[in-house]
Amino acid sequence: MGFQRRMSIPVRVGPVTVGGTAPIVVQSMTNTDTADVAGTVAQVRDLARAGSEIVRVTVNSAEAAAAVPLIRDQLRALNVATPLVGDFHFNGHKLLREYPACAEALDKFRINPGNVGRGTRRDTQFAEMIEIACRLDKPVRIGVNWGSLDQDLLARLMDENNARPEPADAREVMREAIVRSALESAQLAVDVGLPKERIILSAKVSGVQDLIAVYRDLAARCDYALHLGLTEAGMGSKGIVASTAGIGVLLAQGIGDTIRVSLTPEPGGDRTQEVIVAQEILQTMGLRAFLPMVVACPGCGRTTSTYFQQLAQQIQSHIRHRMPQWRAERDGVEEMTVAVMGCVVNGPGESRHANIGISLPGTGERPVAPVYEDGEKTVTLKGERIAEEFQDLMERYIERSYPLRSKA
Ligand code: SF4
Repeated sequence: MGFQRRMSIPVRVGPVTVGGTAPIVVQSMTNTDTADVAGTVAQVRDLARAGSEIVRVTVNSAEAAAAVPLIRDQLRALNVATPLVGDFHFNGHKLLREYPACAEALDKFRINPGNVGRGTRRDTQFAEMIEIACRLDKPVRIGVNWGSLDQDLLARLMDENNARPEPADAREVMREAIVRSALESAQLAVDVGLPKERIILSAKVSGVQDLIAVYRDLAARCDYALHLGLTEAGMGSKGIVASTAGIGVLLAQGIGDTIRVSLTPEPGGDRTQEVIVAQEILQTMGLRAFLPMVVACPGCGRTTSTYFQQLAQQIQSHIRHRMPQWRAERDGVEEMTVAVMGCVVNGPGESRHANIGISLPGTGERPVAPVYEDGEKTVTLKGERIAEEFQDLMERYIERSYPLRSKA
């Protein structure tokens, strides 16, 4: 596909590598109260099972800091080894100092340089957190967010800009302030003693064009590993589309070592959706494979019943449900493609390109569903149990094509 990945300095986050030639990492963040140990453990476990390779928790209070080691221990007891990141803001220096077990239990600290204190206290509080990271060999993400941009820096750049004969527009100055905040904070961390191999940068904004401009600039001006994400992406399809547009363009330009999709869940909605969307962005771009891909046609006037949609959904759910076991037992299942097509117009053609595919009967067509495996028509299904029979065929295809790993 010809993606030329920007080469960044690799950073170890627990057992996971971010940057360099490592695969682009999917990460997520909990929305539980971190002081609620049971609730946070359950959500981190769910995010990890959905495929989140790093999970961040907010550490905003003494209670949250005290809970972190318990959360880590309970997750390890559940065999969840996913690295945990602590998100620190105004009182981060104090919490890290007063709760050494919390600092020790985390695999990475996220520090927002716009939220570490004002005036002269800013640098000392930032330096205190970096010193703790140095002492404990922890990596740090310096995470700038335009909603909490360092106001002193922004004011300084605005003044400089106004003094120019031809001032740039305010939006450009704001973007420069975001990039500068990340780079200057990284330099400060290096000056305090944190090696570059322990620094990841992010510079999140909520506008897609701003995101692309800021990260392109950041990528050109440093070789730190970059964490991509559109902040406050929003809910539902708006959040998914905006995140995909911004992150997708950057990934296509080779920029980005780890991604997080910041979706606002619907009330009572499932937090793991942000993990699934992040995986789908990477997989549809051909950058990683997580699950067998279901290629389904959109349906049209030829598919007047809901049967076709139900079958596509049933197959997708079956794959998601079975994947943890397939992944544990067999190599390469995640590369498989499954076609579920609504009629014979494009159905057989698309099915031939997939590993296994089915063409359902469209309106007015004979009630039969030809199945193709590796480009050849193998069987024609009919009757009431087409969905179940196709799932059985898929299971047999996997058994045949992706042999069990040897235990030796
Ligand atoms: S494959 Fe058939 S049912 Fe699906 S969109 Fe094309 S014409 Fe319509």
